Amino acid sequence: MSRRSGQRIGLGFDVHRLEPGRPCILGGVELPHATGPAGHSDGDAVLHAVIDALTGAAGLDDVGTLFPDTDPTWEGADSARLLGSVLERVHGAGYRVVNVDVVIATEGPRIAPHRAAMRARMAELLAVEVDAVNVKGKSLEGLGALAGGAGVAVEAICLLASGD
Ligand code: MG
Repeated sequence: MSRRSGQRIGLGFDVHRLEPGRPCILGGVELPHATGPAGHSDGDAVLHAVIDALTGAAGLDDVGTLFPDTDPTWEGADSARLLGSVLERVHGAGYRVVNVDVVIATEGPRIAPHRAAMRARMAELLAVEVDAVNVKGKSLEGLGALAGGAGVAVEAICLLASGD
């Protein structure tokens, strides 16, 4: 049996600090907010978590290995470009994306008003239908280091299937 037969599940996680003066780009969408995710690239923690879910499922290196933050190539990079590059590798490994589901935990920007835009943008980037991508925002109930909008934490899970 080929390694590429059947279905594969992958899990991704990312966390970024939210800092003043940074664009608030999450899920490939710029949200109107006074702070945004710090990072070497554009800091899009949602796309980074999705990338790690994809690479985890496909058995590829993780986002930090593929796009090291010591490499000036990726300074300020649009994470959509990184996702596009990873999707090519996923397809090259013989898989297609079945669906992706994301939880965004933050007390920074409100997620709910932007769910539809994030789903549409990520579906476009992943070359799937909008109903194959879901996004939920969660409050942190004032608990922990990310309370008060200090940061954003993201979990993503994806399912890949082999072939067409
Ligand atoms: Mg990241």
